Amino acid sequence: MDSDRGARTALIVGAGVAGLTAATALAREGWRGEIAEVGPPDATSGWGLCLTVPSLRALDELGLADACLAEGYGMSTITHVDVRGEPAGTVRLPRLLGARRPAMAGIARPVLHRVLYAEAERRGVVVRHGVTAAAVDQERELVRVRLSDGAVRRVALLVGADGIRSSTRRLLRLASSRAFHGQMVWRALVPRPRWATGIHQFAGATGTAGLVPVSDRQAYVFLTENGVGLGALPDAEFASRLRNLLGPFPGRVAEILPLISAPEAVVRRPVVTHFLEGAWNRGAAVVIGDAAHAPAPQMASGAALAVEDGLVLARELGRHDSVGAGLRAFVHRRRRRCRTLVETSVTIVALEQARRHHEAYPLVDSCHRLMAEPV
Ligand SMILES: Cc1cc2nc3c(=O)[nH]c(=O)nc-3n(C[C@H](O)[C@H](O)[C@H](O)COP(=O)(O)OP(=O)(O)OC[C@H]3O[C@@H](n4cnc5c(N)ncnc54)[C@H](O)[C@@H]3O)c2cc1C
Repeated sequence: MDSDRGARTALIVGAGVAGLTAATALAREGWRGEIAEVGPPDATSGWGLCLTVPSLRALDELGLADACLAEGYGMSTITHVDVRGEPAGTVRLPRLLGARRPAMAGIARPVLHRVLYAEAERRGVVVRHGVTAAAVDQERELVRVRLSDGAVRRVALLVGADGIRSSTRRLLRLASSRAFHGQMVWRALVPRPRWATGIHQFAGATGTAGLVPVSDRQAYVFLTENGVGLGALPDAEFASRLRNLLGPFPGRVAEILPLISAPEAVVRRPVVTHFLEGAWNRGAAVVIGDAAHAPAPQMASGAALAVEDGLVLARELGRHDSVGAGLRAFVHRRRRRCRTLVETSVTIVALEQARRHHEAYPLVDSCHRLMAEPV
């Protein structure tokens, strides 16, 4: 079916963190938005996310921080434990939302998506599942998009928010190269131990592991595995392999090991980064979130950058007369911050690979300081 839409209409490809928050931010500025999501509803995998201080601040601007705090687990401290299992200090994070609200939140990924979906739909955004953009052409000031089900949209703005393997980026011929860093990150959902009321980070001889609460009942364990290839591991072995990797870690990690049992609660993902050095947009089409810049997950900042992108995009489009000028201003405002995050995360990965992970801690702190600056 052919459909003409026109002024202040946006088609967003991808209903992840970037796509859903961009759709909400645009709707608040008076845009009519539609999302084309290739996956089925409720397809998000079950691991948890840390919504760091800037994530929560950006979500607050969309009116969503309180829902995330209510559905997730608010916290304000990171407790470091050294290689001998001794306490090595507690970092109290700045409470950017005011003294009465916690600095950050842990949240299960499907729960975060439910919160973001509900708000986008409440703002009139239509989410269509099982479709993607198949072809894109600029037609004067509009973008003509042919969807994979044959439908055609003519919109003032196309947003590619379809993740690190973005096919929108390919359709727009925006050059990108992804890098795999010989690491796997592990996440496992476990019952929350009563002592885990903030993030706990355990320094091991060869790497770092930790625990992040995501609700009163649940927490996730994280660990980075060095020196691995891209080869797959049978799902059934996930839990035992993660227990083996955590085995040499000190302190209360021993209490966590028996909690890791269900293979379906464990995820293992390659550490892949990328940054779009060249253009992020072509005409009135732009890529945001992981499609434009993906730091290594150790920084726990990809979602923060994704939410900030949506906010800044909507703001800059509101400030400029043409979509082209708004997109140029958006990219100008986002490029430096996102590049610094991605590049620093790559340096941290290299330090971890060289077993110099302790030297990475100040870099993580410097990035948290950068991210605490206003967007
Ligand atoms: C293991 C792991 C742990 C992480 N932990 C944290 C953390 O604690 N804190 C944090 O801030 N960040 C974390 N990150 C990073 C964070 O997950 C990402 O930066 C964030 O999800 C990016 O959001 P996005 O919407 O750009 O991309 P995605 O979340 O990847 O969403 C992309 C969406 O687009 C859809 N899609 C893909 N292709 C198409 C297509 N062709 N057409 C239509 N739809 C499509 C996908 O189905 C998906 O819904 C972690 C990443 C990993 C891998």
